[in-house]
Amino acid sequence: LDKVPSDIEIAQSQTPKDIAELAAEIGVLDSEIDLYGNKKAKVKLSILDRLGSRKNGKYVVVAGITPTPLGEGKSTTTIGLAQAIGAHLKKNVFACVRQPSQGPTFGIKGGAAGGGYSQVIPMEEFNLHLTGDIHAITAANNLLAAQIDARMFHESTQSDQALYNRLVPKLKGQRRFSPIQLTRLKKLGIVETDPDKLTPEEVTKFVRLNIDPATITWQRVIDTNDRFLRKITVGQSPTEKDKTRECQFDISVASELMAILALTTSLTDMRERLGRIVVASDTAGNPITADDLGASGALAVLMKDAINPNLMQTLEGTPVFVHAGPFANIAHGNSSILADRIALKLVGEEGMVVTEAGFGADIGLEKFFNIKCRYSGLVPNAVTLVATVRALKMHGGGPTVTPGVPLPPEYTNENLELVEAGFSNLKKQIENGLVFGVPVVVAINTFVTDTPAELSLIQRLAKGAGASDAIICSHWAKGGAGAVELAEAVFRATNQPSKFSFLYDLEKPVEEKIRTIAQRIYGADDVDILPKAQEQIDRYKKQGFNNLPICMAKTQLSLTADPKRKGAPTGFKIPIQDVRASIGAGFLFPLADTMTTMPGLPTRPCIYDIDLDLETMEVKGLF
Ligand code: ADP
Repeated sequence: LDKVPSDIEIAQSQTPKDIAELAAEIGVLDSEIDLYGNKKAKVKLSILDRLGSRKNGKYVVVAGITPTPLGEGKSTTTIGLAQAIGAHLKKNVFACVRQPSQGPTFGIKGGAAGGGYSQVIPMEEFNLHLTGDIHAITAANNLLAAQIDARMFHESTQSDQALYNRLVPKLKGQRRFSPIQLTRLKKLGIVETDPDKLTPEEVTKFVRLNIDPATITWQRVIDTNDRFLRKITVGQSPTEKDKTRECQFDISVASELMAILALTTSLTDMRERLGRIVVASDTAGNPITADDLGASGALAVLMKDAINPNLMQTLEGTPVFVHAGPFANIAHGNSSILADRIALKLVGEEGMVVTEAGFGADIGLEKFFNIKCRYSGLVPNAVTLVATVRALKMHGGGPTVTPGVPLPPEYTNENLELVEAGFSNLKKQIENGLVFGVPVVVAINTFVTDTPAELSLIQRLAKGAGASDAIICSHWAKGGAGAVELAEAVFRATNQPSKFSFLYDLEKPVEEKIRTIAQRIYGADDVDILPKAQEQIDRYKKQGFNNLPICMAKTQLSLTADPKRKGAPTGFKIPIQDVRASIGAGFLFPLADTMTTMPGLPTRPCIYDIDLDLETMEVKGLF
């Protein structure tokens, strides 16, 4: 095991098969793919029309225990499991994973393509531009941001009639509303559709969005870790006539557009979601949407290719969809519904789709069930829950670790007491799968320092806690061969009848939905909804948004709201500081803490190691 080369060395040592060949192998027609070179391709949504009547394969989600700095290997396990199913059990399989943000790639995080001998290749392409989906999101997001400020500027400098003349110009001597303007008329309750016949009051109503600048929630985005953009002032040029405003940049993957891409079910649905995006309130407290700003069509144009999932492959030549990468705190942290749907059709009834949920099961898995499955209508058959000996030791009270410093002996020598104490976290996360009525298989991702006694202790405890199985896996070191037993156990689990149900009804009051998640999933006594959050909840209820699912923004490092508390604490409350809305994506997100939506670069970012071999054009030093 000591001799396992670096992730990038392994990835680059394997030549990927031609992606058109892979597409043909799995039954995608030539007319259904857009090739981006010969290693990656987009699969068009039309494939769903052709395969619509085919039965879906088994649907398995990979989640993890509460993350620690020691790493759990969810992506590695997702890919290893898929390799085992496809290349070793010789069954149809698809892995569906998120596209990582480029920001952390140059910052501190390792890649998201898996690791060791369980990876998506080419990993450089996977971790960098891929097919430009994140760039498309950045462009669309910033177009809407620009339109908000421009519109406020124009409204402040022009009379109603001047605005009207510009917004509804006479073309070839005739005035006409565009389709999106007709939508706004309808929303305003104006029945007259002849632009020359609107009353002056109707003209005023139509042209004045009256955006209240203090309520703008739509930020500019960039896919770079740039902490100096966390707070900025826009409009400082004299041409903007003192219309300065404090705002911020977020990282692109934190954009609501990324969540929309992940949750949309068709082009029509995406266009509607884009139109529903709420960017601010007007001075009377009504929501202002992207449709009001006339922008949803243009946003759809910028995202029309991004909606198609990206086909890549594992080191062992099995297919992978890489599609969408929403943040797992202020968004739901799961890859796209469309990729899963297409994959489920392609693998057919006997096959399996392995999809990954971000962070620990209390976050990524809860959101997978309550948000993603609600919008997709798909029923999951099993959960694969990833745990490691080292991470459980940390949950059991093991010392903190410092990057670059050798691990303390607690992690490198056998220590059954720490494993047993830390099992409380795995136990709670197993329960978090079972509470949805879905069987849970624990995958113990082995590290070279694990001892047989530690591994079998976890197996015994996990089965005692209700897991269908607990399997020791070595896919990081051995590829798919190291996860064959896991694959068999997961297939067995999927043969149990699924009793899947959601945790809460959408019609319940927002407060009750939040409380249900906190108590049933985190193990909290209660929630503490602070006055600002209550104000927001009341506003969203008034605006008609009560019946949306809840996307909790809480630290991923603890079941509580305090990242330092490991294991499975009891006797705590979850504070709710603020509640925000992603209406286009379709969820409300309560914040248990302030969430950073723009990471920064550390003192020694990965930038120092990354370089290009000018002869071979190979990327060097990427993890
Ligand atoms: P997660 O998806 O939980 O964040 P990843 O699968 O991305 O974790 O793995 C994080 C890092 O840990 C990767 O660099 C990977 O190579 C490494 N890793 C994963 N499993 C193992 C293992 N069993 N032994 C050694 N390193 C591993």
